[in-house]
Amino acid sequence: MSEGRIAGAVRTHCPYCALQCGTELRAAPGGSVTVEPADFPVNRGGLCQKGWTAPEVLSVRDRLRTPLVRGADGALAPAGWDEALDLVARRLREIRRESGPDAVAVFGGGGLTNEKAYLLGKFARLALGTSRIDYNGRFCMSSAAAASNAAFGVDRGLPFPVTDLGEADVVLLAGANPAETMPPLMRHLDRPALIVADPRRTPTAARAKLHLRTAPGTDLALALGLLHTAVLEGLVDEAYVAERTRGFDEARRHALAWSPERTERVTGVPAAALREAVGLLAGADRAYILTGRGAEQHSKGTDTVAAFVNLALALGLPGREGGGYGCLTGQGNGQGGRELGQKSDQLPGYRSISDPAARARIAEVWGVPESRLPGPGPSAYELLDSLGRPGGPRALFLAGSNPVVSAPRAGHVTERLASLDLLVVADFVPSETARMADVVLPVAQWAEEEGTLTNLEGRVLRRRALLAPPPGVRTDLEVLQGLAVRLGEPRDHYPTDPRAVFDEIRRATAGARADYSGVSYARLDAGEALYWPCPAGPAASDGDGRPHPGTPRMFLDRFAHPDGRARFAAVAFREPAEPVSEAYPLVATTGRVLAHYQSGAQTRRVAALGAAEPEAFVEVHPDTARRFGLVEGGLARIGSARGSTVARVRFAEGLRTDTVFLPFHFAGDQRANLLTNPALDPVSRMPEFKVSAVRIAPEPEA
Ligand code: SF4
Repeated sequence: MSEGRIAGAVRTHCPYCALQCGTELRAAPGGSVTVEPADFPVNRGGLCQKGWTAPEVLSVRDRLRTPLVRGADGALAPAGWDEALDLVARRLREIRRESGPDAVAVFGGGGLTNEKAYLLGKFARLALGTSRIDYNGRFCMSSAAAASNAAFGVDRGLPFPVTDLGEADVVLLAGANPAETMPPLMRHLDRPALIVADPRRTPTAARAKLHLRTAPGTDLALALGLLHTAVLEGLVDEAYVAERTRGFDEARRHALAWSPERTERVTGVPAAALREAVGLLAGADRAYILTGRGAEQHSKGTDTVAAFVNLALALGLPGREGGGYGCLTGQGNGQGGRELGQKSDQLPGYRSISDPAARARIAEVWGVPESRLPGPGPSAYELLDSLGRPGGPRALFLAGSNPVVSAPRAGHVTERLASLDLLVVADFVPSETARMADVVLPVAQWAEEEGTLTNLEGRVLRRRALLAPPPGVRTDLEVLQGLAVRLGEPRDHYPTDPRAVFDEIRRATAGARADYSGVSYARLDAGEALYWPCPAGPAASDGDGRPHPGTPRMFLDRFAHPDGRARFAAVAFREPAEPVSEAYPLVATTGRVLAHYQSGAQTRRVAALGAAEPEAFVEVHPDTARRFGLVEGGLARIGSARGSTVARVRFAEGLRTDTVFLPFHFAGDQRANLLTNPALDPVSRMPEFKVSAVRIAPEPEA
């Protein structure tokens, strides 16, 4: 098992999802590591199956322990660090010299710590000089972020602590299944009556007072119909709308096109259920509306979230204690990862890369002229799609992501990756993407590193090291410094001490919307619960000079727009990008299961998780199975216009007969993303993961 213990026990957080459950890790006799839930308000003593088994990933059999370089024979072979980094730097310099800085691209991940995400963005913009950087969070919560920024002037997943949900009377969950994706969250959802909008009867829907079983791709119509119903029934909070918002008349005009009857025809949700849902929300003292990937991962994801935000605003929920709108961010550092500069259009602090003042500020922190900062680049899918094309990137440096499994139209993305002149992957296991690389750099993982993450409620958390990285393994910060120095950058501009990087984050975010300047390792280590914005210096209202306490609840006095008011969005319904047809008569929607996280690169290596969900499955209604000659437990081949995948058939009585469901955690020919449609949301550039027209047929056992 793991060696190199540096502490007997540490308090830290789970390596997986955005709930970031508090854990206590112990180095047990014999070198193994045990995990227990820590006393932490978010998980209230609970962990899911993934959290309980997380230490196993530290010492999986195929853990990467030495750099690998692809040789003339086409195979990856062990190499020394200097050899690997020298090779990467030389090839990057050559490619830049031949084809310009944008011939080199960077792809990051929403699980990287704040420090890694920040330094990766700086490395891309300065050491490589490229505008071609984006990350897999684009595939996660970008629609909710775009809608929240437009409505409230800033995007923080939950602008209130998770624990507030435990005091709620009613919670509407649109496209979220926390009973399966983040089970400890359900400890806060015992009290409220749940309204769940989902095409599937998920474990969350099964616990709901009201399940609104929408047709895939119609959540936007549902939200419009709910607002229409609120208007018709006189349930709009007129005083709140007048005092705290702008733009209601136009939003109402669009919603009035969506009578309960029309909404029922399009969504499949009975008009009576719409009235019941709105009555429950409006009649509650404390009500929340939350969205998840089911509502967000669409080519109209931004408008869909905006329509749910409109409903929340019409009912007077956001910006008061006991009510609000929030997004259940998915990846471990989904929040911090999107604020600190690995997104193609952003600089640290959620600053726009196109804003001259923001550029000047970050250039000053980085100690370079503003002219050295590239402009905005393409979004994640557009970046992946451009790899190896004429004029597109010829080299890619990738950290914290596995797009061979997790990107839409995964077969095509795999081809683009294969066309590169140089693919460099930093990872701790040989993921499907790492196996394609020309150079693989083995990096430390969660229990072997210090850092911070920002959870789904905007609370900054400390990740602490129990173990030293195994011999031969380096931290991502060391890798970035090693490459940056070889590319001619000053060593001290790329610190390897996460505390030093965090100090730079504090300076870079000072005065920004996501302001971390008042947060410090010392305050976090003293046990303070610090939610951004947390500016340096005392709170304006705090006369005793104590440091700013952070902001657990946002918008109580004003929203973040200059006039302090929230904005309604005028949104109209659009059909999914790809209609069903005679050739592809069903809708496939993709999602997650309890046992696996994201692309499954980590969880598929854990024995108990692999045993719980060893292979891909496809849920079908028994009537659908009969129609297409499928048997429960048999194999099926599911095909779309982009490719086909194989999965084992599971019957699901609670699923619509026009819909099939596939989890996306599996590799090879079991990849659900071989089917998915890269049609992009025009604002967030989110692909249409949730709606693909498909056909299905029995597949013989291999
Ligand atoms: Fe908690 Fe999420 Fe980890 Fe499960 S995966 S233990 S819900 S942080």
